[in-house]
Amino acid sequence: MIKTKELPLVPHLRSPVRPIRTGSWRTLRPVIDHENCNSCFICWSLCPDGVIAKAQGKLTVDYDYCKGCGICSHECPQHAIEMVRND
Ligand code: SF4
Ligand code: SF4
Repeated sequence: MIKTKELPLVPHLRSPVRPIRTGSWRTLRPVIDHENCNSCFICWSLCPDGVIAKAQGKLTVDYDYCKGCGICSHECPQHAIEMVRND
């Protein structure tokens, strides 16, 4: 399991650079199980598009920009993010 302190400091898209809107091609999207989430923020740190945010005490995903890559789900130590069909 990755510990937050072990994560490398790398640039990501949480910057003045505007990320690219996803459009309609995404096949899967992440859904966070807030009951199992322990707010470790590993998903927030690793999302390559910087679309996971904390709002009102809960993590949110901006689906306008999420690419459905599944990294957040794969790396979540609590298995609290399920990738579901983007119907
Ligand atoms: S990686 Fe999993 S447990 Fe950690 S903040 Fe994200 S959803 Fe919650
Ligand atoms: S599926 Fe990929 S782009 Fe979408 S929130 Fe997870 S890590 Fe970020």
